[in-house]
Amino acid sequence: MQTLLSIFTYLIDTVFPRECVGCGERSTILCENCMSRIPKAEQPAHSFITAIFDYRNPTIREVIWKFKYKNAQVLAKYFGEKLYEEILGELGDDLNVLGNEAFLLVPVPLHKKRLRERGYNQSELLAREIIKYDTAKIFQLASEVLTRTRATKPQAKSEKRAARFETLRGAFVTNSALVRGKHIILIDDVTTTGATLSEAHKTLLRAGALTVRAYAVAH
Ligand SMILES: [Zn+2]
Repeated sequence: MQTLLSIFTYLIDTVFPRECVGCGERSTILCENCMSRIPKAEQPAHSFITAIFDYRNPTIREVIWKFKYKNAQVLAKYFGEKLYEEILGELGDDLNVLGNEAFLLVPVPLHKKRLRERGYNQSELLAREIIKYDTAKIFQLASEVLTRTRATKPQAKSEKRAARFETLRGAFVTNSALVRGKHIILIDDVTTTGATLSEAHKTLLRAGALTVRAYAVAH
């Protein structure tokens, strides 16, 4: 029954788009106007990470919650475009220097247990959208490059920063043959302490990646 109900809710949401989370306008889940008013993120402490929106903003919090649990596809399109523009803007000059080398686009993986629970990896949805915008074929989707070996609990608010870094140590494995000498771009939805991205960053560099940058929708 629960499943039937959620299928029904999903269909209704798809056929009749919801109201904007910000202003209630009945057309889309987040209208352009409201999106443009969400404050930009303060940049994370780790210089290899770039984040777009300020996660303290209630609108973006609600939208990202919806991205995790419903309306994922619609929101992936929104955020994918933003990420694409951001990455391209930042890489600008480097792209000329690096020439034809493709960048590997690596979504931060979920542990297979969590993937089963949720049914999709929201970071993977973002990466797939970025690829759609990438008509110049600068990026190459490489979801198989990184694997999560441990299922960590969702980040609890009370969790101490140091404890978080401790829990994540050794949380990822990668394949040197796939990453050696490559430029890698990690994609995530939200970064708070940067612990997850740092661990992935470290794992990839250790395996021989040339450069590793990370982009998140919010911080
Ligand atoms: Zn709005």
